[in-house]
Amino acid sequence: MENKGSSRITNHDSRFMELAEGIRKIGFHRWYERQLTESHVYLVTSFLCLILVLACLEGFSFRTSGLEPLLRLGAMFAGGVVGIASLTRYTRMLGVAWRAAEHSICRKCSAYGALEVTSLRTGVSDPGSRPASPPVGVRCRKCGHEWTIE
Ligand SMILES: [Zn+2]
Repeated sequence: MENKGSSRITNHDSRFMELAEGIRKIGFHRWYERQLTESHVYLVTSFLCLILVLACLEGFSFRTSGLEPLLRLGAMFAGGVVGIASLTRYTRMLGVAWRAAEHSICRKCSAYGALEVTSLRTGVSDPGSRPASPPVGVRCRKCGHEWTIE
């Protein structure tokens, strides 16, 4: 890999950047709610794609005349690609949202989601190793306690 050790922003990093931006713009609670809603739209999309693939597969035969076999193959391929991409996106979004929710309780005053972003570090700092995620520095709006969401 040529980019190993560079400061490129990965898809995972961008999710944490979205977390930081989301907290800044609309607050943690609304960001979390939107993540859950959007991720479940991806889940429904992947389920619909599965239904499309199964519907096209039912009664499929190369012996059928005309363009039908090709159209069915195309629809199955497209449904498979979109379905897998949607399912992958669903799991990633949900993972980041759950992880952020687990780390959004202030240890000092037990306030949930009363956060403001203090910092965000992206990229790879140590060549040859990839951090688990870029930490998002946050501060409790009630007591001022600071910690990072990683
Ligand atoms: Zn607090």
